Amino acid sequence: MNILVINAGSSSLKYQLYDMRDESVLAKGKVERIGMDSAILSHEPSGKNEVREVSEILEHTTAIRKVLGMLIHPEHGVLERIEDVHAVGHRVVHGGEAFSSSVIVNEEVKSQIKRLFDLAPLHNPAHMLGIQAVEQNLPNVPQAVVFDTAFHQTMPAHAFLYAIPMVLYRRHKIRRYGFHGTSHAYVSERAAQFLGKPYEELKIVTCHIGNGASCAAVMNGKSIDTSMGMTPLEGLMMGTRSGDIDPAVVPFIMAKEDLTVNEVSSMLNKHSGLLAISGISSDMREVTEAMQSGDKIAGFAFDMFTYRIRKYIGAYAAAMNGIDALVFTAGIGENSEAVRKAVCSGLTFLGLEFDDERNRTGRGQERLISTDASKVAVLVIPTNEEWMIARDTYALVSGGEPHGIAVTPEQVPSRGS
Ligand code: AMP
Repeated sequence: MNILVINAGSSSLKYQLYDMRDESVLAKGKVERIGMDSAILSHEPSGKNEVREVSEILEHTTAIRKVLGMLIHPEHGVLERIEDVHAVGHRVVHGGEAFSSSVIVNEEVKSQIKRLFDLAPLHNPAHMLGIQAVEQNLPNVPQAVVFDTAFHQTMPAHAFLYAIPMVLYRRHKIRRYGFHGTSHAYVSERAAQFLGKPYEELKIVTCHIGNGASCAAVMNGKSIDTSMGMTPLEGLMMGTRSGDIDPAVVPFIMAKEDLTVNEVSSMLNKHSGLLAISGISSDMREVTEAMQSGDKIAGFAFDMFTYRIRKYIGAYAAAMNGIDALVFTAGIGENSEAVRKAVCSGLTFLGLEFDDERNRTGRGQERLISTDASKVAVLVIPTNEEWMIARDTYALVSGGEPHGIAVTPEQVPSRGS
């Protein structure tokens, strides 16, 4: 069975085609600048040369048509006929409380995703365009959706509620949802397999550190807490996002700087984090290079960034009464020796013994970077969200169970019940 995985954004669309017989990637690529007359389709077929095509692509339906055309292209294609795409899996950022595992797309699922537009205005509408574009191009092909929030639906109410009037949760579902769930699920499970220990018996902290960054506490195979909140702004310091901030700062700045809601939101999401503090870049590579060539402010930004991660690991060690494994993943987590070393340097109180040599070698591979004697196993596990989406889609269309546990969120206690 061949499965096409799609991650649709408002003006871009990434795709990856899997042959599930051996879980190999037949092709991958992306369409950028959707909505413009010079949109770019970059296509990487396995075993063939990459191609890049610039053309007018005004909406997602055309983008999908172009992608499908490329998959069966006589020269650059990897399939004989379009009927060889057997199912499509979509990444959907927000599943709210409605979805705790992946599901097959039907009318009810589509209306639920639409109801969640308010909670993820930048993401869910774009995912819906992707789903509709596939419906138009491949009307008889089953589609599944895999949610970034689903894995965290096992959080207990004391971890997901904010200490604000309960009516706001009841009326508007304001609570912590958490994101990067597909990645936290994948790397925590792989960590257990790597260590040869039962997933259901481990206490794992996963650090997904990329442009967006979050930590999760995964206890006995379930997410019990995570650093992102109702939106992906809360928690760690990120490339351009502030992460945790005293909420009173927001009305204060709005008054002092005469900012609108949109302006302050844009400041916190797009002009903060590593970019704001380093004054150089949101890209950790550039900040690290500047730090290593003696730029003190870049060094300060780096320290702030890694301090936040260490603080969350400490918090989750307390939440789980210990840690068996600490996992680094995503762009920075997988590639930055310096970030991993700095984060771990203050964690010796946990019995964590970092191994510099292991940290330096084996890039791109799953590996242990703590000593054999360390009480906490520190691992680097490259994430693979697309594969998780393909795997869940395959399970669902073959009548099996998707990854993860179908749960109803823990009931929040109320005086009336
Ligand atoms: P992601 O959002 O997961 O694609 O991660 C993007 C981030 O990973 C950017 O901040 C990159 O600078 C960072 N990154 C990628 N490679 C490296 C590297 N070798 N060293 C440090 N940071 C890296």
